[in-house]
Amino acid sequence: MELAQRVQTLTPSSTLAITAKAKDLKKQGFDVIGLGAGEPDFNTPAYIIDGAQQAMNNGLTKYTPAGGIAELKLAIIDKFQQDNGLTYNDKQIIVTNGAKHALYTLFQVILNKEDEVIIPSPYWVSYPEQVKLAEGNPVILPADENNDFKITPKQLEEAITSKTKAVIINSPSNPTGLMYSKGELEALGEVCLKHNIIIVSDEIYEKLIYTSKEHVSIASISDEIYNQTIIINGVSKSHAMTGWRIGYAAGNETIIKAMTNLASHSTSNPTSIAQYGALAAYTKDPGNISLEYKKIFAERLDAFYKLIQDIPGMECIKPEGAFYLFPNAKKAAEMNGFATVDEWVAALLEEEKVALVPGSGFGSPDNVRLSYALSIEELTEAANRIHRFVLNHK
Ligand code: PLP
Repeated sequence: MELAQRVQTLTPSSTLAITAKAKDLKKQGFDVIGLGAGEPDFNTPAYIIDGAQQAMNNGLTKYTPAGGIAELKLAIIDKFQQDNGLTYNDKQIIVTNGAKHALYTLFQVILNKEDEVIIPSPYWVSYPEQVKLAEGNPVILPADENNDFKITPKQLEEAITSKTKAVIINSPSNPTGLMYSKGELEALGEVCLKHNIIIVSDEIYEKLIYTSKEHVSIASISDEIYNQTIIINGVSKSHAMTGWRIGYAAGNETIIKAMTNLASHSTSNPTSIAQYGALAAYTKDPGNISLEYKKIFAERLDAFYKLIQDIPGMECIKPEGAFYLFPNAKKAAEMNGFATVDEWVAALLEEEKVALVPGSGFGSPDNVRLSYALSIEELTEAANRIHRFVLNHK
């Protein structure tokens, strides 16, 4: 059976692939430590589950407006005002089936065939595939590891052509955990304004920052940049709600309207019950759940970073946010006699039963991504195994 051309070059998500392989080995009885997970290891807080439960009990289990229930849009509008100092109206918001689907829908409505989207690498694995699915061309712009994996305004300007439609900024970043400062965002924003380029700002990790640096939304820098930016965010990472599939986009009314029309013919609406769960997440928080998570992740980061730093041949910039380390493992791979980091990762899983995600899936083949959404005991054991492998594998 001949498949459509648009899916013939589609590659499965490398993070999901490694997680599946690790699960498979676990099933066979091996003691595997998976560092591939892109999700918090906490259960969704009880107050959120209660919100969804009440919605079910009250019969709120029917179709909802395609762009999300009005109450949740209002809660999202409040969140933007409070957290980011940004003012939106309800026509500028769409609730989607996760941030991933917000991005997918966005590219579908803004890209014509062969329009270019600039994607700084290392990048989140789904960006290039989503652009290709919208018949656009992903233009990968390598960010220098010596510049904390961040692109410069000069680099951005040089990558722009007459076909450039958008650039993706993901801060804090998956996979590097690094962030752009306000000044850096301002300079990148100026380039986008000059060339009339849409800024897709993926801010899904904004609540998980472990330094004194504050998250700055690029849209808050000026009215001109605000008008040019679509913000992507969601509750998956901030509220341990990955399986609920609630994300959102905010920005230009015409774009949001087109995304909503597309959703009305594809998903109909994000799951009603999950929307009420997200509403509770934003409006009923009895403490400050994101702060609690932040504290736990910060401790894990400090402990794990130190252990990984101590491994010969692994060089790592200390991340500022998200929950990943992204060390350069080229030297470790060479010391162990492997030509590529991909092969080294495969052998590590085979021999020591530790699953890392190869950086090749993120456009950075000398690096590996290690999630620290695990207990400190598991992280310590994982680091010990990697250390042992680097010292002993011949
Ligand atoms: N953006 C980035 C950078 C991510 O890492 C993820 C999830 O891994 C997403 C978007 C999508 O999140 P979700 O679809 O669960 O809301």
